[in-house]
Amino acid sequence: MTSPPWHNPDPRGRYHLLIIGAGPAGLIAAQTASRWGAKVALIERNLLGGTCLNDGCIPSKAIIRTSRLYREMRDAEHFGGRVPAGIAVDFPAVMERVRRIRARLSARDSAERLTAMGVDVYFGEARFAGPDSVTVGGLVLRFKKALVATGARAVRPPIAGLEEAGYLTYENVFDLTECPKRLLVIGGGPVGCELAQAFSRLGSRVILVQDEPMFLGDEERDAAQLLSDALARDGIDIHLNTQTLRVRVEGDDKVADLVCDDTKSRVTVDQILVGVGTVPNVQGLNLEAAGVSHDDARGIRVDDFLRTTNPRVFAAGDVCAEGKFPHIESAAGRIVVANALFLGRQRLSAEVVPWCTFTDPEIAHVGLYVTEARRRKIPVKTFTIMMHEIDRAITDGEEEGFVKLHVREGTGKILGATVVASHAGDLINEISLAMSTGLDLDALARVNRPYPTQSQAIRMAASAYVRSRPQKIRTWLKRQFLACDRR
Ligand SMILES: Cc1cc2nc3c(=O)[nH]c(=O)nc-3n(C[C@H](O)[C@H](O)[C@H](O)COP(=O)(O)OP(=O)(O)OC[C@H]3O[C@@H](n4cnc5c(N)ncnc54)[C@H](O)[C@@H]3O)c2cc1C
Repeated sequence: MTSPPWHNPDPRGRYHLLIIGAGPAGLIAAQTASRWGAKVALIERNLLGGTCLNDGCIPSKAIIRTSRLYREMRDAEHFGGRVPAGIAVDFPAVMERVRRIRARLSARDSAERLTAMGVDVYFGEARFAGPDSVTVGGLVLRFKKALVATGARAVRPPIAGLEEAGYLTYENVFDLTECPKRLLVIGGGPVGCELAQAFSRLGSRVILVQDEPMFLGDEERDAAQLLSDALARDGIDIHLNTQTLRVRVEGDDKVADLVCDDTKSRVTVDQILVGVGTVPNVQGLNLEAAGVSHDDARGIRVDDFLRTTNPRVFAAGDVCAEGKFPHIESAAGRIVVANALFLGRQRLSAEVVPWCTFTDPEIAHVGLYVTEARRRKIPVKTFTIMMHEIDRAITDGEEEGFVKLHVREGTGKILGATVVASHAGDLINEISLAMSTGLDLDALARVNRPYPTQSQAIRMAASAYVRSRPQKIRTWLKRQFLACDRR
């Protein structure tokens, strides 16, 4: 966030890199390029930090942390603790903490700080004026290379009566000052699941509606099932395979008609939160003037080097159609700087991209899914360790979940992994590191770790692979030992 009033600087000739959008992709590109001495302009129409800082990753993780605390307090007896019955949630204090954290982190990427780094920061709506120029606030900025990193916005689903009834999305849910007593969440992707669980733990009676048979789309089925069980244990009323037909207002209530197969039902709530995905921000940019090919629904077309159809213009982050990895904006920002300013040939597809849904338990994944590997005719073998076998998971009361490592059959080469655990987002990093540096399961099995830690699960899964190696090796070793005895 900026401290007003801000005066846009005078343009400094032709910029080496002009960036539209100051979310993670735009910010990392601006900082990296200016560190290398490039003349950089950064244009933002709203708040520095973009969705991630203001309406996404940061506020959601802050609220999730507090909701976990309330859950733990309710579970205190399980850990030998005692807290007064009927714990009251101080919702305004929860949201105040969210705002405090957001404000603290925003200082890191403030306009003043960026300016001090040599970045020219402009506030206003950016619009291409031609293949090498952009207008903002009445100024014309010229560029050698440009990066479009304008992100995406929440989808507004065409549900009859929804607009009239009013609803929340991630863009305004963190502005709530009162916790809704009854909350309907439409959408069982990461955003819907994370927020449904958080609000349920903060005291809302949550109904979660997902139009598919499982949560989290393409995630492995047993991971999605564990999540479904966990959400149900939190008291969330789950409706899978269910459509929201229409919404209407009755007095102070919002009433939604649902249908699952042919069975109709009705729910009455105080608020509706919609989390059914995003659409890329391409409107108003006048991309036609720059010769940048795009699609209103899917975003800007880029190749593996993040180049658009205008050789001067790159795109990264949620605004891109192809190669869209929502969790890789920072890497994409760096790739653009290398490819745009230094004749680099860095490919987005070369990145190892882990991701995580921060529910409790967390669900993290990296690399290939088994179904994907089979589709590509890659033979796969999976090694699984359940978290309830792990000493530290038992001592921490965090026994739910598993570590699954997928390897190319007959080798220790890691193709992918799914981790469901309380701290899966941290555990997955070791596997990502192994994949990006070419380490195999032999190496992971040999890593010494402090005892007890939950990453023991990774070692045990890797050891299971080592033990499963073809009988031939063991027979050969046996023969060597026998020969040794005879000597
Ligand atoms: C609730 C929620 C939780 C999430 N949690 C996570 C998480 O835990 N981990 C994770 O990896 N991802 C998470 N995400 C996704 C993540 O927030 C996005 O993938 C990420 O913010 C995309 O970054 P970006 O730089 O592409 O775009 P954005 O962050 O959307 O930034 C784009 C910026 O461009 C600006 N802009 C747009 N058009 C113009 C214009 N014409 N002129 C000037 N400026 C313009 C916008 O105002 C915005 O500031 C979450 C998302 C949500 C909604």
